Amino acid sequence: MKFCLILTFISLITFLAISQEDDFKAYTEDTTIVQSNEFKTFEESTDNISVCSHYQKGCPYAQNNLIDWSWGSTLTITAIALALTIIAGIMVRYKTTRNFRNIMLIIGLVFFGFYNGACPCMISSFQNTILYVAGYDIDWTSLLWFLGLIPITYVFGKVWCGWVCHLGALQEFLYRPKLHSWLTNEKTGKILKIIRYILIIALIIQLLIMGNIFWCKIDPFKAIFNIQLNVHYEVVASILLVLLLISSLFSFRPFCRTICPVGIILGWISHIPGASIVGLKSKQCISCKLCSETCDIHAITRRKNISYIDNKECIACGDCIDECNKCSLEFLRKSSKNKPVQIFKKWY
Ligand code: SF4
Ligand code: SF4
Ligand code: SF4
Repeated sequence: MKFCLILTFISLITFLAISQEDDFKAYTEDTTIVQSNEFKTFEESTDNISVCSHYQKGCPYAQNNLIDWSWGSTLTITAIALALTIIAGIMVRYKTTRNFRNIMLIIGLVFFGFYNGACPCMISSFQNTILYVAGYDIDWTSLLWFLGLIPITYVFGKVWCGWVCHLGALQEFLYRPKLHSWLTNEKTGKILKIIRYILIIALIIQLLIMGNIFWCKIDPFKAIFNIQLNVHYEVVASILLVLLLISSLFSFRPFCRTICPVGIILGWISHIPGASIVGLKSKQCISCKLCSETCDIHAITRRKNISYIDNKECIACGDCIDECNKCSLEFLRKSSKNKPVQIFKKWY
């Protein structure tokens, strides 16, 4: 029954997305004359940045954005994102406040997703950073979201992913663990990691060759958060949207585990000395597998009765720390003793 409801929900969203295409056309026709002069000014003033020409609610660079940005800017939205991530980083350190993770995810989903239309976001910020490094003339404020997450992740772990990210939140709330779970075994995990690396290399090559953010035009998250599809790429976006929604039901955060470039980069930070990691704080571990069973993102996996953690994948949710009966797990700092990849085994 639940499954049917969820499929109905997905069909409804897709239908709404397609049907609002006409509204968009009407909207653009109505506003073309009125806004033509403003557009000229806008285009002239933004020649140096990567302008997305599509219809989004929040994007300050979109030609038809619907939010009055007089109260804010990319800088404001970035500051809110980074402040929430720091708050989450503090909350995850305490057992009581760890219970509020879902509330933080809902805030991220509603504010950055449905209110802000998922644009700008940390993925566009990552792509702008690549373009900036490659010598393109990019507005510096658009780099701050991605760059700001790097030191925060170093201090607190990937709390942005586990606690605030609207894209992660959407996938996590859709996930139905009781349905048949797939993409879970170790071999599949390795294949997904290889796909991720291939995709990030492909993305960087595309950015360097084309010099623009093509991803914005086929982004399925923008389609759902704006309840509409992009004008010229509706077929690709709708296919990706349906794939995303259905795969999220059966697999925990499939986009995070297969595509997101920001998740990969933030994961590498766990290898820097002094970075925040999850590891064994005492030798009380009895290799009971409670932690691996509770880790939905599969940062902790089980092989031959021994659990392994790979902090590159950890989203700092704190669930394994709460689940461990022996209180063996804790947030630690990466050092020669505390490695980002650890074995949880019996010590006696
Ligand atoms: S991996 Fe990417 S999409 Fe997933 S939670 Fe992290 S930043 Fe968001
Ligand atoms: S760390 Fe804790 S939950 Fe994980 S295997 Fe060891 S005792 Fe069990
Ligand atoms: S290792 Fe622990 S803190 Fe990290 S994602 Fe898995 S359950 Fe959450």
